[in-house]
Amino acid sequence: MSDNSLCQIVLYNQLWEQYLYTDYTHFLYIHNIWKINFQGRELQLNTHSKIIDYAGWKHLIESLKEQWKTAEFLIEESFISWIKKYSQQHNISEFVLINPVEDYVFKNFQKIQKQLRKYDIKLTFTQDSQSFFLSHDDFKKQYKKPPIMEYFYRFMRKRENILITDDGKPEGWEWNYDKENRKYDRKHERSWSFELEKNKYWQEAEEYYQFESKFTYPTNRKESLKLIDYFLEHHLDNFGRLEDAMYEDDAYVHHSLLSSSINYGLLTPREVVKAVEQRDTAMNNKEWFIRQVLWWREYMYHFFHSYKDTIYTENFLGHTRPLPEYFWKNPENCPINSLKVTLQQVHSENMSHHIQRLMIIGNFALLCNLDPHELNHWFFEYYTDAFEWVVTPNVLWMSQFADGWKLATKPYVASANYIQKMSDYYKNSQHNPKEKYTDDACPFNYLYWCFVADNKETFEKWRQQFVVKNLEKVDIKRCRELKEKFLKEQY
Ligand SMILES: Cc1cc2nc3c(=O)[nH]c(=O)nc-3n(C[C@H](O)[C@H](O)[C@H](O)COP(=O)(O)OP(=O)(O)OC[C@H]3O[C@@H](n4cnc5c(N)ncnc54)[C@H](O)[C@@H]3O)c2cc1C
Repeated sequence: MSDNSLCQIVLYNQLWEQYLYTDYTHFLYIHNIWKINFQGRELQLNTHSKIIDYAGWKHLIESLKEQWKTAEFLIEESFISWIKKYSQQHNISEFVLINPVEDYVFKNFQKIQKQLRKYDIKLTFTQDSQSFFLSHDDFKKQYKKPPIMEYFYRFMRKRENILITDDGKPEGWEWNYDKENRKYDRKHERSWSFELEKNKYWQEAEEYYQFESKFTYPTNRKESLKLIDYFLEHHLDNFGRLEDAMYEDDAYVHHSLLSSSINYGLLTPREVVKAVEQRDTAMNNKEWFIRQVLWWREYMYHFFHSYKDTIYTENFLGHTRPLPEYFWKNPENCPINSLKVTLQQVHSENMSHHIQRLMIIGNFALLCNLDPHELNHWFFEYYTDAFEWVVTPNVLWMSQFADGWKLATKPYVASANYIQKMSDYYKNSQHNPKEKYTDDACPFNYLYWCFVADNKETFEKWRQQFVVKNLEKVDIKRCRELKEKFLKEQY
């Protein structure tokens, strides 16, 4: 039976009907929620996030209106006065909201809840049972604090019965197939060809915002299902092998690009994992993909919620240098090819794959002592799939080591040698990845050795004495001079 006195407030990460209480009559979408202040600064969201937000809800409205429901799209600034007006007009006794997954948004709604109480308007939060396999309460029942990652992975595989035999062993007898993954193929040719036509709401969003987008992401359920079918058919068979490879003219290699569909609630992580599990492909592809969603994605969410109260004040390595301007605009001014290519791609498509995020952008930021919190803000604004619960742990904990040892066992830093091994970025580069001191030496080399020298004790603690030992062969004074000169030129 439909209830006329209840109104569901729908959020930007709940863009599929499965998130709706379909026995309600009223639905409200708050479009300006993005503008909420995040850690003292207003977020300036990127082109593609804005379009997904706008077009995603317009698709939902269309289907709600077909069912004779009242669905509104709130763009006004004054949320409280609008809610008051709306509740009087429609006789609403209670507004209901599925828990926001982002902590800063949740806290904001708690404030709103308090303010509404003054006007006798009730705002109720309900559990989100779709965005993750485990609710954070279930996680806390299982663990007092986040366990060792590998234990959590095995727990999740068994709990969800994914790639597990009848007698509780991992299918194929291994928990992972990493030795078959992370290869580089010099003969690789681009085959990523998924394209969506700009649907009518995508076009409407472009008119509304008065910009044109270069790329299209799914903004409704149908398009998201198309994307997963495309990935399963064309890329899953090579997913594991080339997971970490980077190519200048092939941004996505065999990655799925499913993160935004999952994070905006157009696909559930459970259905994505099931679809991959059922596919007939080599175990290294299946297991690696499933691990990303069932383990990494899930772990990051619970890890974030376990430590969210301290993370924004931590800066273990004490890095405070501002980001160079080419992060924010004109990425073509960046002097290092690997970083330039990645930043240009992020500026035009608001996306890059995980090794570009970790070993190009994150690596550069660590080696140049860039402020991890400013970097987090940058990632949040520039990536389509960025949501607080996933961007913050990945940037601050995983990539920038801002917490010391809570998540990562060591900072992810590398010299040009790694980038050369895993990419073709030196094909068009003015720098030589083999040189440390010459005019054409790749900055990743001298920056790397300065980082090792500055963090000697910490490297030893990571049981990486062999790295520190190699410092003996390096002219560190020269490296420091080059670093200083390089940094001066970036501002
Ligand atoms: C510094 C940094 C910042 C990141 N920021 C984000 C972010 O804002 N949003 C986001 O969704 N992911 C983030 N990631 C994780 C990862 O890079 C992206 O999920 C992935 O690149 C998305 O592309 P894809 O869908 O093609 O992924 P694929 O390579 O096809 O992987 C499949 C899926 O696994 C999941 N996944 C893989 N790695 C992670 C991870 N580390 N954490 C959470 N989920 C993961 C995603 O849902 C992804 O769609 C970040 C990683 C790093 C190192």
